[in-house]
Parts: sequence; structure tokens; C-alpha cells
Amino acid sequence: MKCPFCGHTEDRVVDSRVGRDGEFIRRRRECLKCHRRYTTYEYIEDVLPHVVKRDGRREPFDRQKLRGSILKACEKRSVGVQAVDDVVADIEAKLHERAEKEITSLELGEVVMEHLQKLDQVAYVRFASVYRQFKDINQFMDEVKGLIKEGDKPKAAKPSPKPVSKKEPGQPVR
Ligand SMILES: [Zn+2]
Repeated sequence: MKCPFCGHTEDRVVDSRVGRDGEFIRRRRECLKCHRRYTTYEYIEDVLPHVVKRDGRREPFDRQKLRGSILKACEKRSVGVQAVDDVVADIEAKLHERAEKEITSLELGEVVMEHLQKLDQVAYVRFASVYRQFKDINQFMDEVKGLIKEGDKPKAAKPSPKPVSKKEPGQPVR
């Protein structure tokens, strides 16, 4: 840091503290030359993209909203909250990798569906039917038929009250 008083570039940090909700770190610094003190703030760069909605409006990526919609799709399925949080973290990581400033809500929906498909098939279809707003009933039926073919076992998914067992078919594969 360049000292605001004398321009010297060496300093020592005398105090660091995290701001409200961990949004920033505040550091108190002392110039090694003139020994005057000054404060710097360190923020996380806003790297997650804005979501462009169908009507062209943009809004910041909202982690809680995404998590809520995935939880809703997983309602009464044997998917643990931890598994949902992992999916949300994976999606965020993917958005970071993508490093674009914007993503359309449709693209975001595709990313979510990609992850849900591995997590739980029923949750996937539920989410898809809302997010993609199936253009017609045939498209929806195609999707469902595809699933029936894939999971054509007598052990059909009944919502069960017991916690996720290790061999649940809907577990994410890593
Ligand atoms: Zn100085």
C-alpha cells in the first residue's frame, strides 16, 4: 500500500477486523517511513453473474432463491439438505468458472437441471416443469417417459420418512 501521507510503499498492519457479516476486512496500517496510520478496506470482488430474466430485467444472482427452489423441488424426496447445499455450491463454482458477467435465467435453469438430474430424478422433473415452463404437454411427457425408461425398476420411489440411506439411487455420483 502506498502511504497517503508520504507515498512510501512499505507498511505494517497493526490491526485487522472483519466487518459486518464478513463483507469486508478492515485493516489499520502504519507507514514504516512516516509512522502515520491509515485504514484500508478489503472487499470480495463481485464475481457472480447477474441473471437476465425473460423480460430482459437483470437481477443479482441470489443464492438463497436458488437454494429455495431446489429445496422445493426436493420436497418429500429423500434428499438431504446437505446434498442440496452441495449442489448449490457446485452451481456457484460453475458460475465462477464461467466468469461471465451475465447469465440468462434459461441458461441458469439448464445448469441447475444438469445437477438435479444426478441428484434426484423426481426433483429434476419438478424443477424442469417449473423452470423450463414446458412449451406443451408433449414435451413434458417426453421428459417423463425418458425417466420411466431409465428407472424402470419395481423399486419405484415412494416418499419414505427415513433418512437417506447410502444406496439411494438418487445420490449424486462423484
Ligand atoms: Zn508515510
